[in-house]
Amino acid sequence: MYNYWNSRTRGLSPYVPGEQPGDKKYIKLNTNENPYPPSPKVIEAIRNAAGERLRLYPDPTCQELREAIAQTYRVKPEQVFTGNGSDEVLAFVFAGFFGPDPAYPLLFPDITYSFYPVYGNLWNIPFRAVPVTEDFSINPKDYQTSSGGIIFPNPNAPTGKALPFQAIQEILICQEKQGRIVVIDEAYAAFGGESAVPHIMEHPNLLTIHTLSKSASLAGLRVGFAIGNEALIEGLCRIRDSFNSYTLDRLALAGAVAAVLDVSYYREINRKVIVTRERVTKALTQDLDFDVLPSEANFIFIRSSRQRGAELFAALREQGILVRHFNKPRTADFLRVSIGTDEEMDIFLNVLGKGAMKLTLKS
Ligand SMILES: *Cc1c(COP(=O)(O)O)cnc(C)c1O
Repeated sequence: MYNYWNSRTRGLSPYVPGEQPGDKKYIKLNTNENPYPPSPKVIEAIRNAAGERLRLYPDPTCQELREAIAQTYRVKPEQVFTGNGSDEVLAFVFAGFFGPDPAYPLLFPDITYSFYPVYGNLWNIPFRAVPVTEDFSINPKDYQTSSGGIIFPNPNAPTGKALPFQAIQEILICQEKQGRIVVIDEAYAAFGGESAVPHIMEHPNLLTIHTLSKSASLAGLRVGFAIGNEALIEGLCRIRDSFNSYTLDRLALAGAVAAVLDVSYYREINRKVIVTRERVTKALTQDLDFDVLPSEANFIFIRSSRQRGAELFAALREQGILVRHFNKPRTADFLRVSIGTDEEMDIFLNVLGKGAMKLTLKS
Protein backbone atom coordinates (compact mmCIF):
# COMPACT_ATOMS: atom_id res chain seq x y z
CA MET A 1 0.00 0.00 0.00
CA TYR A 2 1.64 3.19 -1.21
CA ASN A 3 0.23 5.28 1.61
CA TYR A 4 2.88 3.72 3.88
CA TRP A 5 5.55 5.59 1.92
CA ASN A 6 6.80 8.75 3.59
CA SER A 7 7.14 12.01 1.68
CA ARG A 8 10.83 11.31 0.98
CA THR A 9 10.05 8.01 -0.77
CA ARG A 10 7.18 9.57 -2.70
CA GLY A 11 9.45 12.37 -3.94
CA LEU A 12 12.26 10.14 -5.29
CA SER A 13 13.06 9.65 -8.97
CA PRO A 14 15.43 6.65 -8.84
CA TYR A 15 18.28 5.86 -11.23
CA VAL A 16 17.44 3.37 -13.98
CA PRO A 17 20.37 0.99 -14.54
CA GLY A 18 21.06 -0.58 -17.95
CA GLU A 19 19.24 -3.89 -18.24
CA GLN A 20 20.79 -7.21 -17.27
CA PRO A 21 18.64 -9.50 -19.43
CA GLY A 22 17.86 -13.07 -18.45
CA ASP A 23 15.71 -14.07 -21.42
CA LYS A 24 18.20 -14.73 -24.22
CA LYS A 25 21.85 -14.40 -24.97
CA TYR A 26 22.65 -10.85 -25.98
CA ILE A 27 25.90 -9.22 -26.95
CA LYS A 28 25.95 -6.88 -23.99
CA LEU A 29 27.33 -3.46 -24.88
CA ASN A 30 25.05 -1.49 -22.56
CA THR A 31 26.64 -1.10 -19.10
CA ASN A 32 30.35 -0.59 -19.79
CA GLU A 33 31.39 -3.85 -18.19
CA ASN A 34 34.87 -5.07 -19.19
CA PRO A 35 34.61 -7.82 -21.83
CA TYR A 36 37.63 -9.65 -20.40
CA PRO A 37 37.59 -11.77 -17.24
CA PRO A 38 39.04 -10.56 -13.94
CA SER A 39 42.61 -11.51 -13.05
CA PRO A 40 42.91 -15.24 -12.11
CA LYS A 41 44.55 -14.02 -8.87
CA VAL A 42 41.24 -12.36 -7.93
CA ILE A 43 39.29 -15.61 -8.30
CA GLU A 44 41.91 -17.49 -6.31
CA ALA A 45 41.84 -14.92 -3.51
CA ILE A 46 38.04 -15.07 -3.27
CA ARG A 47 38.17 -18.90 -3.18
CA ASN A 48 40.66 -18.77 -0.35
CA ALA A 49 38.48 -16.31 1.57
CA ALA A 50 35.35 -18.46 1.15
CA GLY A 51 35.85 -20.42 4.36
CA GLU A 52 35.17 -20.73 8.04
CA ARG A 53 36.20 -17.13 8.72
CA LEU A 54 33.00 -15.84 7.08
CA ARG A 55 31.63 -16.38 10.62
CA LEU A 56 33.47 -13.20 11.59
CA TYR A 57 32.66 -9.62 10.62
CA PRO A 58 35.05 -8.14 8.05
CA ASP A 59 37.57 -5.43 8.95
CA PRO A 60 35.46 -2.22 9.11
CA THR A 61 38.51 -0.07 8.29
CA CYS A 62 39.38 -2.15 5.19
CA GLN A 63 43.03 -1.64 6.17
CA GLU A 64 44.60 -4.26 3.89
CA LEU A 65 42.68 -3.02 0.84
CA ARG A 66 43.49 0.62 1.61
CA GLU A 67 47.18 -0.31 1.91
CA ALA A 68 47.06 -2.13 -1.44
CA ILE A 69 45.40 0.88 -3.11
CA ALA A 70 47.91 3.23 -1.47
CA GLN A 71 50.79 1.15 -2.84
CA THR A 72 49.44 0.99 -6.39
CA TYR A 73 48.42 4.67 -6.55
CA ARG A 74 51.45 5.99 -4.59
CA VAL A 75 49.42 7.65 -1.83
CA LYS A 76 48.97 7.00 1.91
CA PRO A 77 46.34 4.58 3.27
CA GLU A 78 44.87 7.55 5.20
CA GLN A 79 44.14 9.15 1.82
CA VAL A 80 41.96 6.23 0.73
CA PHE A 81 38.29 5.46 1.45
CA THR A 82 36.67 2.22 0.24
CA GLY A 83 33.02 1.38 -0.34
CA ASN A 84 30.46 -0.96 -1.82
CA GLY A 85 30.88 0.16 -5.42
CA SER A 86 31.68 3.73 -6.32
CA ASP A 87 27.95 4.43 -6.38
CA GLU A 88 27.96 4.02 -2.62
CA VAL A 89 31.07 6.17 -2.28
CA LEU A 90 29.31 8.82 -4.41
CA ALA A 91 26.19 8.64 -2.23
CA PHE A 92 28.41 9.33 0.81
CA VAL A 93 30.16 12.19 -1.02
CA PHE A 94 26.80 13.86 -1.72
CA ALA A 95 25.70 13.33 1.88
CA GLY A 96 28.99 14.60 3.29
CA PHE A 97 30.21 17.50 1.18
CA PHE A 98 27.40 19.15 -0.83
CA GLY A 99 24.47 21.41 0.09
CA PRO A 100 22.25 22.61 1.64
CA ASP A 101 22.41 26.36 0.71
CA PRO A 102 20.25 27.10 -2.40
CA ALA A 103 22.37 30.22 -3.05
CA TYR A 104 25.32 27.90 -3.76
CA PRO A 105 24.16 25.02 -5.96
CA LEU A 106 26.27 21.98 -6.72
CA LEU A 107 27.37 22.12 -10.38
CA PHE A 108 27.68 19.22 -12.82
CA PRO A 109 27.32 18.91 -16.62
CA ASP A 110 23.86 18.52 -18.20
CA ILE A 111 25.14 15.47 -20.06
CA THR A 112 26.83 13.26 -17.49
CA TYR A 113 26.39 10.27 -15.18
CA SER A 114 22.67 10.26 -14.51
CA PHE A 115 23.08 9.16 -10.89
CA TYR A 116 24.26 12.65 -9.82
CA PRO A 117 20.82 14.34 -9.95
CA VAL A 118 19.34 11.27 -8.24
CA TYR A 119 21.70 11.63 -5.26
CA GLY A 120 21.09 15.39 -5.29
CA ASN A 121 17.36 14.77 -4.90
CA LEU A 122 17.83 12.03 -2.31
CA TRP A 123 19.85 14.33 -0.01
CA ASN A 124 17.95 17.55 -0.84
CA ILE A 125 21.01 19.18 -2.37
CA PRO A 126 20.39 22.22 -4.59
CA PHE A 127 22.12 21.61 -7.92
CA ARG A 128 22.44 23.17 -11.37
CA ALA A 129 23.16 21.25 -14.57
CA VAL A 130 25.69 23.21 -16.67
CA PRO A 131 25.28 22.65 -20.43
CA VAL A 132 28.25 21.05 -22.15
CA THR A 133 29.40 22.90 -25.26
CA GLU A 134 28.05 22.33 -28.77
CA ASP A 135 30.70 19.63 -29.34
CA PHE A 136 29.82 17.95 -25.99
CA SER A 137 32.92 19.19 -24.13
CA ILE A 138 33.07 20.34 -20.53
CA ASN A 139 34.22 23.97 -20.57
CA PRO A 140 36.36 24.51 -17.46
CA LYS A 141 35.47 28.24 -17.46
CA ASP A 142 31.84 27.30 -16.68
CA TYR A 143 33.01 25.90 -13.34
CA GLN A 144 35.10 28.89 -12.30
CA THR A 145 32.17 30.53 -10.57
CA SER A 146 30.56 30.51 -7.13
CA SER A 147 29.15 27.06 -6.35
CA GLY A 148 28.28 24.58 -3.65
CA GLY A 149 30.88 22.17 -5.05
CA ILE A 150 31.59 20.52 -8.41
CA ILE A 151 31.34 16.95 -9.64
CA PHE A 152 31.94 15.39 -13.04
CA PRO A 153 33.51 12.25 -14.48
CA ASN A 154 36.82 12.50 -16.32
CA PRO A 155 36.52 11.13 -18.97
CA ASN A 156 32.88 12.21 -18.94
CA ALA A 157 30.10 9.67 -19.42
CA PRO A 158 28.30 9.02 -21.70
CA THR A 159 30.36 11.21 -24.07
CA GLY A 160 33.77 9.63 -23.40
CA LYS A 161 35.43 13.06 -23.71
CA ALA A 162 38.31 13.81 -21.33
CA LEU A 163 39.86 16.98 -19.91
CA PRO A 164 43.60 17.35 -19.32
CA PHE A 165 44.51 17.85 -15.65
CA GLN A 166 45.56 21.42 -16.38
CA ALA A 167 41.92 22.34 -17.10
CA ILE A 168 40.78 20.69 -13.88
CA GLN A 169 43.48 22.54 -11.96
CA GLU A 170 41.95 25.91 -12.92
CA ILE A 171 38.65 24.73 -11.45
CA LEU A 172 40.34 23.39 -8.31
CA ILE A 173 42.13 26.67 -7.60
CA CYS A 174 39.01 28.78 -8.11
CA GLN A 175 36.86 26.52 -5.91
CA GLU A 176 39.48 26.22 -3.18
CA LYS A 177 39.37 30.01 -2.75
CA GLN A 178 35.66 29.65 -1.99
CA GLY A 179 36.11 26.64 0.27
CA ARG A 180 34.44 24.24 -2.16
CA ILE A 181 35.22 20.65 -3.05
CA VAL A 182 35.81 19.35 -6.60
CA VAL A 183 35.01 15.67 -7.10
CA ILE A 184 36.44 13.94 -10.17
CA ASP A 185 34.81 10.58 -10.92
CA GLU A 186 37.59 8.53 -12.55
CA ALA A 187 35.52 5.43 -13.38
CA TYR A 188 37.08 5.41 -16.87
CA ALA A 189 40.52 6.93 -16.26
CA ALA A 190 42.28 3.63 -17.04
CA PHE A 191 41.26 3.85 -20.70
CA GLY A 192 43.42 6.77 -21.73
CA GLY A 193 42.51 9.86 -19.70
CA GLU A 194 44.77 11.72 -17.28
CA SER A 195 44.19 10.88 -13.61
CA ALA A 196 44.17 13.67 -11.01
CA VAL A 197 45.42 11.36 -8.24
CA PRO A 198 49.07 12.58 -8.39
CA HIS A 199 47.80 16.06 -7.45
CA ILE A 200 45.83 15.32 -4.25
CA MET A 201 48.66 16.72 -2.09
CA GLU A 202 48.59 20.11 -3.87
CA HIS A 203 44.80 20.44 -3.73
CA PRO A 204 43.10 19.77 -0.39
CA ASN A 205 39.68 20.20 -2.07
CA LEU A 206 40.30 17.46 -4.67
CA LEU A 207 38.57 14.10 -4.25
CA THR A 208 38.92 11.40 -6.92
CA ILE A 209 36.46 8.49 -7.20
CA HIS A 210 37.39 5.06 -8.56
CA THR A 211 35.71 1.75 -9.26
CA LEU A 212 36.80 -1.82 -9.90
CA SER A 213 33.64 -2.34 -11.99
CA LYS A 214 34.98 -1.22 -15.35
CA SER A 215 38.77 -1.29 -15.55
CA ALA A 216 39.17 -4.29 -13.18
CA SER A 217 36.37 -6.43 -14.69
CA LEU A 218 34.65 -6.68 -11.30
CA ALA A 219 31.22 -5.06 -11.68
CA GLY A 220 29.82 -8.10 -9.87
CA LEU A 221 32.01 -7.66 -6.78
CA ARG A 222 30.88 -4.10 -5.90
CA VAL A 223 34.05 -2.28 -4.88
CA GLY A 224 34.80 1.41 -5.28
CA PHE A 225 37.09 3.88 -3.57
CA ALA A 226 37.99 7.52 -3.14
CA ILE A 227 41.45 9.11 -2.99
CA GLY A 228 41.95 12.57 -1.52
CA ASN A 229 43.29 14.45 1.45
CA GLU A 230 42.98 12.90 4.91
CA ALA A 231 40.26 15.26 6.15
CA LEU A 232 38.00 14.44 3.21
CA ILE A 233 38.54 10.71 3.83
CA GLU A 234 37.71 11.17 7.50
CA GLY A 235 34.47 12.93 6.50
CA LEU A 236 33.48 9.94 4.38
CA CYS A 237 34.21 7.58 7.29
CA ARG A 238 31.88 9.64 9.50
CA ILE A 239 29.05 9.23 6.99
CA ARG A 240 29.71 5.50 6.52
CA ASP A 241 29.85 4.83 10.24
CA SER A 242 26.53 6.61 10.66
CA PHE A 243 25.00 4.25 8.08
CA ASN A 244 26.68 0.81 7.91
CA SER A 245 30.15 0.07 9.30
CA TYR A 246 30.66 -3.06 7.14
CA THR A 247 30.00 -2.01 3.59
CA LEU A 248 32.61 -4.38 2.13
CA ASP A 249 32.34 -8.10 2.87
CA ARG A 250 35.24 -10.52 3.31
CA LEU A 251 35.01 -11.93 -0.22
CA ALA A 252 34.93 -8.49 -1.82
CA LEU A 253 37.88 -7.34 0.27
CA ALA A 254 39.96 -10.40 -0.67
CA GLY A 255 39.18 -10.07 -4.38
CA ALA A 256 39.73 -6.33 -4.43
CA VAL A 257 43.20 -6.57 -2.83
CA ALA A 258 44.29 -9.07 -5.49
CA ALA A 259 42.83 -6.92 -8.28
CA VAL A 260 44.45 -3.69 -7.16
CA LEU A 261 47.87 -5.37 -6.91
CA ASP A 262 47.72 -7.11 -10.31
CA VAL A 263 48.55 -3.97 -12.26
CA SER A 264 50.19 -5.72 -15.24
CA TYR A 265 47.22 -8.02 -15.97
CA TYR A 266 44.81 -5.11 -16.09
CA ARG A 267 47.12 -2.88 -18.08
CA GLU A 268 47.16 -5.56 -20.75
CA ILE A 269 43.38 -6.18 -21.01
CA ASN A 270 42.60 -2.46 -20.94
CA ARG A 271 45.17 -1.84 -23.66
CA LYS A 272 43.22 -4.35 -25.77
CA VAL A 273 39.97 -2.46 -25.07
CA ILE A 274 41.63 0.77 -26.25
CA VAL A 275 42.93 -0.84 -29.46
CA THR A 276 39.44 -2.23 -30.21
CA ARG A 277 37.86 1.16 -29.48
CA GLU A 278 40.12 2.87 -32.00
CA ARG A 279 39.47 0.22 -34.64
CA VAL A 280 35.67 0.38 -34.20
CA THR A 281 35.72 4.19 -34.22
CA LYS A 282 37.55 4.15 -37.53
CA ALA A 283 35.16 1.60 -39.07
CA LEU A 284 32.09 3.55 -37.94
CA THR A 285 33.28 6.90 -39.24
CA GLN A 286 34.99 5.76 -42.44
CA ASP A 287 32.83 2.87 -43.62
CA LEU A 288 29.44 3.43 -42.00
CA ASP A 289 28.83 7.17 -41.96
CA PHE A 290 28.56 7.54 -38.17
CA ASP A 291 29.64 10.45 -35.99
CA VAL A 292 31.74 9.17 -33.10
CA LEU A 293 32.80 11.50 -30.30
CA PRO A 294 36.53 11.10 -29.54
CA SER A 295 36.53 8.73 -26.55
CA GLU A 296 39.09 8.04 -23.85
CA ALA A 297 36.76 5.57 -22.13
CA ASN A 298 35.70 1.94 -22.69
CA PHE A 299 32.63 3.06 -24.63
CA ILE A 300 31.83 5.30 -27.58
CA PHE A 301 29.00 7.78 -28.07
CA ILE A 302 27.80 7.49 -31.66
CA ARG A 303 25.23 9.02 -34.00
CA SER A 304 24.04 7.65 -37.31
CA SER A 305 23.52 10.03 -40.21
CA ARG A 306 20.61 7.86 -41.39
CA GLN A 307 18.74 6.53 -38.37
CA ARG A 308 17.37 8.02 -35.14
CA GLY A 309 18.79 6.79 -31.87
CA ALA A 310 15.59 5.06 -30.72
CA GLU A 311 15.16 3.23 -34.03
CA LEU A 312 18.74 2.06 -34.11
CA PHE A 313 18.54 0.95 -30.47
CA ALA A 314 15.46 -1.16 -31.24
CA ALA A 315 16.97 -2.59 -34.44
CA LEU A 316 20.15 -3.63 -32.61
CA ARG A 317 18.15 -5.18 -29.78
CA GLU A 318 16.18 -7.18 -32.34
CA GLN A 319 19.53 -8.49 -33.63
CA GLY A 320 20.60 -9.52 -30.12
CA ILE A 321 22.82 -6.52 -29.39
CA LEU A 322 22.14 -4.38 -26.33
CA VAL A 323 23.42 -0.79 -26.22
CA ARG A 324 22.30 2.25 -24.20
CA HIS A 325 19.99 5.00 -25.44
CA PHE A 326 19.43 8.15 -23.34
CA ASN A 327 16.15 9.62 -24.48
CA LYS A 328 16.80 13.26 -23.54
CA PRO A 329 16.70 16.21 -25.98
CA ARG A 330 20.46 16.58 -26.47
CA THR A 331 21.29 12.85 -26.52
CA ALA A 332 18.27 11.28 -28.25
CA ASP A 333 20.12 10.80 -31.55
CA PHE A 334 23.05 9.06 -29.89
CA LEU A 335 23.78 5.58 -28.65
CA ARG A 336 26.37 4.70 -26.04
CA VAL A 337 28.15 1.53 -27.05
CA SER A 338 30.46 -0.27 -24.62
CA ILE A 339 33.60 -1.74 -26.18
CA GLY A 340 33.34 -5.54 -26.20
CA THR A 341 35.77 -8.17 -27.47
CA ASP A 342 36.97 -7.91 -31.07
CA GLU A 343 34.60 -10.74 -31.98
CA GLU A 344 31.59 -8.97 -30.44
CA MET A 345 32.45 -5.68 -32.10
CA ASP A 346 32.80 -7.35 -35.50
CA ILE A 347 29.25 -8.70 -35.14
CA PHE A 348 28.09 -5.21 -34.09
CA LEU A 349 29.74 -3.60 -37.14
CA ASN A 350 28.38 -6.32 -39.39
CA VAL A 351 24.80 -5.77 -38.19
CA LEU A 352 25.13 -2.01 -38.64
CA GLY A 353 26.64 -2.51 -42.10
CA LYS A 354 23.68 -4.63 -43.20
CA GLY A 355 21.18 -2.15 -41.74
CA ALA A 356 22.83 0.72 -43.57
CA MET A 357 22.78 -1.26 -46.81
CA LYS A 358 19.04 -1.92 -46.51
CA LEU A 359 18.38 1.76 -45.97
CA THR A 360 20.50 2.71 -48.96
CA LEU A 361 18.60 0.31 -51.20
CA LYS A 362 15.25 1.69 -50.01
CA SER A 363 16.13 5.31 -50.68
C1 LIG B 1 29.86 2.87 -13.68
C2 LIG B 1 30.02 4.21 -13.07
C3 LIG B 1 30.00 4.37 -11.69
C4 LIG B 1 29.55 3.26 -10.76
O1 LIG B 1 30.44 2.30 -10.54
P1 LIG B 1 30.19 1.18 -9.46
O2 LIG B 1 31.48 1.10 -8.77
O3 LIG B 1 29.85 -0.04 -10.25
O4 LIG B 1 29.08 1.60 -8.55
C5 LIG B 1 30.28 5.61 -11.17
N1 LIG B 1 30.52 6.67 -11.97
C6 LIG B 1 30.50 6.56 -13.29
C7 LIG B 1 30.77 7.77 -14.13
C8 LIG B 1 30.24 5.34 -13.89
O5 LIG B 1 30.17 5.23 -15.21
